[in-house]
Amino acid sequence: MTEIRHHLTEPQLVAYASGSLSYPFAMVVAAHVSMCAECRARLGAHEVLGGAVMEDLPAETVSDDLKDIVLARLDGMTEAAPAPRRRGIYPGPVAEILHGEAPKWRSLGRGNRQAILHDGPDGSVRLLHIPPGQAVPDHGHNGLELTLVLQGSFADADETFGVGDVEVADDAVEHTPVAGDEMPCICLAATDAPLRFRGLVPRMLQPIFRI
Ligand code: ZN
Ligand code: ZN
Repeated sequence: MTEIRHHLTEPQLVAYASGSLSYPFAMVVAAHVSMCAECRARLGAHEVLGGAVMEDLPAETVSDDLKDIVLARLDGMTEAAPAPRRRGIYPGPVAEILHGEAPKWRSLGRGNRQAILHDGPDGSVRLLHIPPGQAVPDHGHNGLELTLVLQGSFADADETFGVGDVEVADDAVEHTPVAGDEMPCICLAATDAPLRFRGLVPRMLQPIFRI
């Protein structure tokens, strides 16, 4: 696996650790964490520290003792419940929701495909399949969008996202991600609100595709 350069933010890890993330975002966070040792370690620290903060320790006592506690609990965690198994390009949390089967791809036109994993009032999470070199239709966001690359890569503005990288796009972002030339790009994408497409045709298709 290539080196992961685009990670989760601290607030996202904290929200995930405290269980306050919506299901679609929690899915992307869980999938990234399963692929990224760095975020796994950061998450482990938050899970432990979250408990410590609730115990309201005076700041002076949060020192070497806490560090020992964190390390001890982290050791314990690695022996806890086994994480769901990865299958092919699909990280454990995604493989689990697919029940070990291939995704049920639906065409979005021009070779783009999607497989909706969850769609509810809390948002949606889906797999996207974008042919090599092809652009995702230009769109903005009414809320937040998290996109995790599972295969291939995409470029957005002047940044490239490879396997394991997460892109965070909020309502200030209008973008046109373009898949890399090497192979189809497969992503896991979660949103908490419908996207805003600029083109008329994508807008008309939106209700059909539930994007
Ligand atoms: Zn990471
Ligand atoms: Zn987007």
